[in-house]
Amino acid sequence: MRTGKCMCGAVSLTIRSEPDTFNACACDMCRRLTGSQFMSVWVPFEDVTIKDAAQVRTIQSSDWAERGFCGACGSSLWYRPTGGEPGVGLSLGLFDDLSGLAFDGHWYTDKAICALLNQPPKSPMTEAEVDTQFESGSA
Ligand SMILES: [Zn+2]
Ligand SMILES: [Zn+2]
Repeated sequence: MRTGKCMCGAVSLTIRSEPDTFNACACDMCRRLTGSQFMSVWVPFEDVTIKDAAQVRTIQSSDWAERGFCGACGSSLWYRPTGGEPGVGLSLGLFDDLSGLAFDGHWYTDKAICALLNQPPKSPMTEAEVDTQFESGSA
């Protein structure tokens, strides 16, 4: 069982199934929705338990799918086909623990930000390095 929540915590969820992979989609819609790419874990929707759905909002993002997000903080929750398919792509970033998940599908790689910019990051930083920079007041 995995647990997750949006940025503000108004929406929290658990999943019963044990996915071992995640995917990333860099299509135009996912890029604009997320600012980069949509990374998700695919599970049966019936395996998802939402603790408090009061802030869950959805938009029909295409003829075949909806996007879920938190109405309080805007966090992306899911991509879900609306044609009766059983699966849902839950936002990878919701989960408290990402261990045991392997990067599987990467779609529209030619549209990924790094591909569009054609450059690797110039100054990669770990969490500890970011914290240190903020604490020193230089960020
Ligand atoms: Zn939220
Ligand atoms: Zn996409």
